[in-house]
Amino acid sequence: MSFDSFNLHPHILANVYALGYKTPTPIQSQSIPPVLLGKDVMGLAQTGTGKTAAFTLPIIQRLITGPRSGVRALIVAPTRELAQQIHDTFVKLCYGTRLRSMALYGGVNIKSQIKKLESGVEIVVACPGRLLDHVKQKTINLSKIDVLVLDEADQMLDMGFLPSIRRILTHLPKKRQTLLFSATMAYAIDELAYEVLHEPVMIKIGHSAPATSVKQALFPVASHLKSRLLIKILRKTNIESVLVFTRTKHGAKQVAGKLEQAGFRATSLQGNLSQNKRQSAMNGFRNGTIQILVATDIASRGIDVSAISHVINYDMPDTVEAYIHRIGRTGRADKMGEAFTLITHEDNIEVRNIERVLGNRLEQCKLEDFDYAA
Ligand code: AMP
Repeated sequence: MSFDSFNLHPHILANVYALGYKTPTPIQSQSIPPVLLGKDVMGLAQTGTGKTAAFTLPIIQRLITGPRSGVRALIVAPTRELAQQIHDTFVKLCYGTRLRSMALYGGVNIKSQIKKLESGVEIVVACPGRLLDHVKQKTINLSKIDVLVLDEADQMLDMGFLPSIRRILTHLPKKRQTLLFSATMAYAIDELAYEVLHEPVMIKIGHSAPATSVKQALFPVASHLKSRLLIKILRKTNIESVLVFTRTKHGAKQVAGKLEQAGFRATSLQGNLSQNKRQSAMNGFRNGTIQILVATDIASRGIDVSAISHVINYDMPDTVEAYIHRIGRTGRADKMGEAFTLITHEDNIEVRNIERVLGNRLEQCKLEDFDYAA
C-alpha cells in the first residue's frame, strides 16, 4: 500500500513525502480509510506506531474544504509534550493548505493564546485543564467542531481527567466524528468509548513484544563518528554473524565498504542489487563466508538466517514497530542475541518512545578507549 492510494489532496501528499514517509504504517493503512469516510474509530496503539499521522492526515483532508476561521478539529491529549508534538505534526502536514493549528496547554501566558484564537485557527490541540479555562472564559468556541480526537485516553484517565473530558464533551456538537486512541484497553476506556463513540471501527495494532532473549544497548555518538565507533564495537565484541541496519541504500553501501576496508567480511544488501548479486550476498551470509550484512529495512525482508548473533542499528529506525522488528532478527531459536543502536542527540525522542513501549530504560554504553571528541 502507498500513500497515493488514499486520494489525499496533492498538498497533503507532498507534505507526507517531504517528511520522508514512504509507506503507511499499519495503523495508518487501517485508520486513514475509515476516518476519511467520516466513521468513528477506536484505535488501540502506542506512541511510535505512527498514530499521529494516522489521524492528522484524514483530518486535514476533511478540513481542507469547508469554512475557515472557526475551530473545526479538537485534539485532546494528556501532556504538554504530546500536545506540542501533535501540533508540530499538523503544522508540517498542513503546509500550503492555509489551515492553522495551535497548541493549548497551561504554564504559558493565556493572553497570547487568546490572541491567536481570535486571529482564527481551524485545529486546536489541547490539554484538558487549559482548554476548560478557555471554555470558562468563553475565549474558545467549540460549537463548530467536526472532529474530536481523544489521544492517549488511558493516560488521561490515569491522570484523573475523566471529569474534565466529560465537561468538554458538553460543549461539543452531538453530531461529530470522534476518534479515540489508547495504548491499553482498560475497563474504564471501554466505558468512555461507549459514551463518546458511535458505531466505531475498532483498530488494534499490537507491538510484537521483543524477545526477552535479546540484550539491548544504546551507543551515543556524534554523527560523523558513527562508522568509526561501529568498527570499534565490532572489534571488541564476540560476533558470529551481524546484521547492520542503515536508513538508506546509499548508507548501506558506504558502511559495508568501510567495514571491508577495515578487514571484515562484509557486504551490503540493498534494492539496487541485481537478483544474482542479492542471492549471492544472502548465500554468503547464510554459509558464513560473509560475516556482516549491511541492509535497509526493505532489503532485509526475507533474510531468514536463524543464527544472527548481533543486530546493529547504524541508523535509528523511524518507528518503534520497526525497532522491535529489527531486533527480533537476533535471539532466535533459543539463542541469546544482542541488539546495539548508535544514537545521536537527534534520536532522543525516538529513544524515549522505544523506552516507553518497552517499559524500561535502555542501557547507554560508552567505550573507554574511543575518542568521542575526534
Ligand atoms: P507517532 O507514533 O505518531 O509518535 O510516530 C512515531 C514516529 O514515526 C514519528 O517520528 C513519525 O514522524 C514517524 N512516522 C510516522 N509515520 C511514518 C511513516 N509512514 N513512515 C515513516 N515514519 C513515520
